[in-house]
Amino acid sequence: MNAADSRSITIIGAGLAGALLATLLAREGWRVDVYEKRGDPRLQGYEGGRSINLALAERGRHALRQADADDAVMTQAVMMRGRMVHTSDGRQQLQRYGRDDSEVIWSIHRGDLNITLLNLAEQAGAALHFHRRLDTVDFDAGVADFVDERDAGRQAIGFDSLVGADGAGSSLRAAMMRKTDLGERTEFLGHSYKELEIPPAADGGFLIEPNALHIWPRGRYMCIALPNDEKTFTVTLFLPNEAAADNADPSFATVRSGADARALFERDFPDALPLIPDLEADWERNPPGLLATLYLQRWHIDRRAVLLGDAAHAMVPFHGQGMNCAFEDCVALARQLISQPDRAAAFSAFEAERKPNAEAIQAMALENYVEMRDRVDDPDFLLQRELERALQERHPGRFVPHYSMVTFMLIPYALAHRRSEIQRRILVDATRGRDSLAQIDWDAVDAAVMQQLDVLVDAA
Ligand SMILES: Cc1cc2nc3c(=O)[nH]c(=O)nc-3n(C[C@H](O)[C@H](O)[C@H](O)COP(=O)(O)OP(=O)(O)OC[C@H]3O[C@@H](n4cnc5c(N)ncnc54)[C@H](O)[C@@H]3O)c2cc1C
Repeated sequence: MNAADSRSITIIGAGLAGALLATLLAREGWRVDVYEKRGDPRLQGYEGGRSINLALAERGRHALRQADADDAVMTQAVMMRGRMVHTSDGRQQLQRYGRDDSEVIWSIHRGDLNITLLNLAEQAGAALHFHRRLDTVDFDAGVADFVDERDAGRQAIGFDSLVGADGAGSSLRAAMMRKTDLGERTEFLGHSYKELEIPPAADGGFLIEPNALHIWPRGRYMCIALPNDEKTFTVTLFLPNEAAADNADPSFATVRSGADARALFERDFPDALPLIPDLEADWERNPPGLLATLYLQRWHIDRRAVLLGDAAHAMVPFHGQGMNCAFEDCVALARQLISQPDRAAAFSAFEAERKPNAEAIQAMALENYVEMRDRVDDPDFLLQRELERALQERHPGRFVPHYSMVTFMLIPYALAHRRSEIQRRILVDATRGRDSLAQIDWDAVDAAVMQQLDVLVDAA
């Protein structure tokens, strides 16, 4: 390998992670080639695929800042201050995510974000190749074979190293698995999702409170809605795939047609129903999306290939962190590649740094599903949240709410997960059998905090 080769890389997938990684490396003078199976979304419109909009949090924004992409992305973002919980009896309650408007998350349109990042990658000097679906890889020869799905034309490309940013169904991962066992395991959630739309109001504004992530929690299932900057909301209904034994709850097995969906909304989401005029058509048009967690024991093959983002660690979407985590991966991999000329060592160090953190956020994302669909309107949960806020005031920097550690800080996910477990035990113990903060044994709870939690310093 000559000096020029040592600063060149081939990325598979020009989605969110592929486009950001390309930008980060091209800005450092690397030769970057990105191969994407779809057409250029800037020419033919965004083809979609996964969710229509996404929650962007501090980790993602921090990564975008490394590529000077944050300002461009934020022009299209809608602030979400907290969860607007819609209870079964029609009440609404805003549960703030943070202390004030400096601690919020942002709703962004996936297509717009992808296009912004593709433009930045190209401006930074990356070469983007569309209509190139990775098909097979000869790792020994260093040759990757691509297909143009418009005419089934094939193209063989020589490579030194491949980065798999090709998402949950990664073709590079499949090719790597044919060469070596990556220890792959996929756990399906048993629940899927369907996307629907709330259009703008007649006056062109938003039909419901724009600066919130709306949730209709209903026990084993739920609906959520995130705002879009064109004044619409994308509604996502999450349901079990199969009917429960008692047949009490809806599922994708029982709610099959647009008419079934309308009946479900009339019964369980009556305040949302009038907001979704095309419910039946949306239902019939959009197939349900499967949800799963992907675990791998290994993310790379020597210096030849490495995986990141969903290709390495797809997760369920309930913490709104899949993209944020993928963006952190990009910064970490770029840093390792730039500082470490030995490619295999860079991939190894990247995997060692990121794998425990990906596993931590995967676990927290699964836990958050139960919280969102079943607990946000539960009195025990609300008292624990009240105590969490009180302890944050009593022990600043030491007791930091779970959601803040994941969403507003840059500490490793694994550390956030460990501390959250400790804090959850403290909250549950202190509130057991109690109805209000007035009944809390403050001496005991303060002692538990001081004993079990040290002062937390953010990573930057
Ligand atoms: C319903 C839902 C809601 C979500 N909400 C959030 C959220 O609020 N916040 C958040 O942070 N995350 C969220 N996520 C997760 C987020 O979508 C993913 O983590 C993120 O898209 C991962 O980015 P990626 O670049 O790794 O993969 P992708 O975005 O999937 O990009 C992969 C790219 O590779 C291309 N590709 C695929 N196969 C090939 C091939 N063989 N050859 C060439 N190219 C190929 C694809 O066309 C695509 O462009 C959500 C996910 C879902 C399903």
